[in-house]
Amino acid sequence: MIEIKNLSKIYKTGNISVTALKNVTLKIEKGEFVGIMGPSGSGKSTFMNIIGCLDRPTSGLYVLDDKTIENMSDNELAEVRNNKIGFVFQSFNLLPRTSALKNVELPMVYAKVSAKERRSRALEALDWVGLGDRTHHNPNELSGGQKQRVAIARSLVNQPAIILADEPTGNLDTKSGEEVMEIFKKLNKDGVTIILVTHERDIAEQSKRIVTFRDGEIISDELNDREAKLK
Ligand code: ADP
Ligand code: ADP
Repeated sequence: MIEIKNLSKIYKTGNISVTALKNVTLKIEKGEFVGIMGPSGSGKSTFMNIIGCLDRPTSGLYVLDDKTIENMSDNELAEVRNNKIGFVFQSFNLLPRTSALKNVELPMVYAKVSAKERRSRALEALDWVGLGDRTHHNPNELSGGQKQRVAIARSLVNQPAIILADEPTGNLDTKSGEEVMEIFKKLNKDGVTIILVTHERDIAEQSKRIVTFRDGEIISDELNDREAKLK
């Protein structure tokens, strides 16, 4: 479903250029659960931004479901992003002073889903992440783990094939982090492809495959046998 070949990304600011990704080649099939590791500055966020169609590579090939991203207009890319991909971030990125329900409805406003349908899908998603009794709470009335579950509900409402999660447990205590990981595992069981960046080995080891970046290159790509077998 995701095929990347010799992909590079160079950021240019004035006369300074930084090579964030260097000739990265990788395939990710539908239904995989991939943990992405690597030190700060190794290119993980850049990689996620490109996979998520938030940014374009400087060179190389990115094919998503048989479509070559290079050939698509910005509007087409935005459509792919809205329809295929759900995003979850370390800092939750919820609108403050806006209920959990309204936060979860937001991506469907962009996708032009009717108000009635938005409401019912948002309630269902919140229920699914265990927050059926928190729909009218604002983010500041929720714990970190609950905020992240709202963010996951929001990422799900357009039924994405892929969830991209960048350090989703980075701001959570161990127990909330585990709850969030259980949700990702459950989604993955339902066939959703999960790509998850983490600094924590414990978290990465809950995925089925671990890809490690260093200085913009993939230095290892291995199956996590234990988790792969549990499936
Ligand atoms: P990671 O997520 O692994 O910390 P990043 O992808 O954020 O790595 O960064 C990779 C390299 O690219 C770093 O050297 C970073 O400073 C640089 N970089 C990332 N984004 C930008 C940008 N928008 N403009 C300039 N340099 C950037
Ligand atoms: P993370 O902790 O996820 O690796 P970073 O703090 O490295 O995130 O980067 C956060 C965002 O800022 C990223 O989306 C990245 O593209 C951007 N960024 C990172 N480094 C730079 C930079 N040197 N100049 C401009 N933007 C950057």
